[in-house]
Amino acid sequence: MDRIFNFSAGPAALPQAVLEQARDELVNWQGCGMSVMEMSHRGKEYMGIQAEAEADLRELMNIPANYKVLFLQGGASMQFAMVPMNLFRGKASADYLNTGEWSKKAIKEAQKYGKVNVVASSEDKNFTYAPAQSAWKLDPNAAYVHYTTNETIGGVEIFWTPETGNVPLVADMSSDILSRPIDVSKFGLIYAGAQKNIGPAGLTIVIVREDLLGQLVPGTPTMFDYKIAADNDSMYNTPSTYAIYIAGLVFKWLKKNGGIAAMEKVNRAKAKLIYDFLDQSKFFQSPVAVENRSLMNIPFTLKDAALDDEFLKAAKARGMVQLKGHRSVGGMRASIYNAMPIEGVQALVALMKEFEQQHG
Ligand code: PMP
Repeated sequence: MDRIFNFSAGPAALPQAVLEQARDELVNWQGCGMSVMEMSHRGKEYMGIQAEAEADLRELMNIPANYKVLFLQGGASMQFAMVPMNLFRGKASADYLNTGEWSKKAIKEAQKYGKVNVVASSEDKNFTYAPAQSAWKLDPNAAYVHYTTNETIGGVEIFWTPETGNVPLVADMSSDILSRPIDVSKFGLIYAGAQKNIGPAGLTIVIVREDLLGQLVPGTPTMFDYKIAADNDSMYNTPSTYAIYIAGLVFKWLKKNGGIAAMEKVNRAKAKLIYDFLDQSKFFQSPVAVENRSLMNIPFTLKDAALDDEFLKAAKARGMVQLKGHRSVGGMRASIYNAMPIEGVQALVALMKEFEQQHG
């Protein structure tokens, strides 16, 4: 069966080579006589798989030695709670930037643990841009500063790294981790759900500076303590072993394809095909400010929303699925993570062109 072009925002397309390797190794991993799914997480085979995944991620992202890499569960949504539980550290408030639906959820959860100061918001323009740092009202005594590097629903990405002095910078990178190089040393903590650019759902990756660990809000459950996870190499309890194995294969695939800098080049080329088309179109339109146009999630609208369903049907007929936009934005959204081949983007732009000719 031929594969389709899957533009889902997540769980999202995975590299075909990774799926094929997983298939080949499914029943009998590298001659050990069992599947990775069946391995004890304390056995040497699985311990090797997880250690290699961590080492490859450290290499890909150039993660400094004083940072812990944690393989957790519960999704990025659980991090909305774990971050304040672990990082408030007795301080009065935390700073949050509000750039859309995911920022809002992070803010709402943090408010359960302390005072949240919203440093700036783009709600005035329906979250179609990110406020410049000059407009942020940062508090030098904040416990940390939290922002969402890429708003998956709005398609708003922040390509610069905020300067927060001695206040730890915390980033939800769920939908743009591994898509372009970043300087990890500028961050106190980075988190990301796996199901977009890393691997299957059920795995959440946290990268955290060691000195931030161990000062929990009283009453925090053991499983929500980063230090417990760090001290136990993410094996305080049973980790999501199969998801970590697939993530490890994705990391190898990234290394083989030139690493994250090479990914960024391809990602920029893919996104440019769509944005260039949108900018000259009189029928399709991007709602997002030019400087914040996401390389990963591209929302666009049709001039006549009554044609949305027809466009989705035409896409499906050509093997392109999951293009319907989020209800809060409307229209379409093309999610084009690392694993989306440029051919998928070319097919989408060709369809948009023809659709405009017919209906424009
Ligand atoms: N943050 C961002 C930026 C997201 O895109 C998502 C999921 N779409 C989440 C948080 C929530 O992630 P999860 O479903 O893994 O809890």
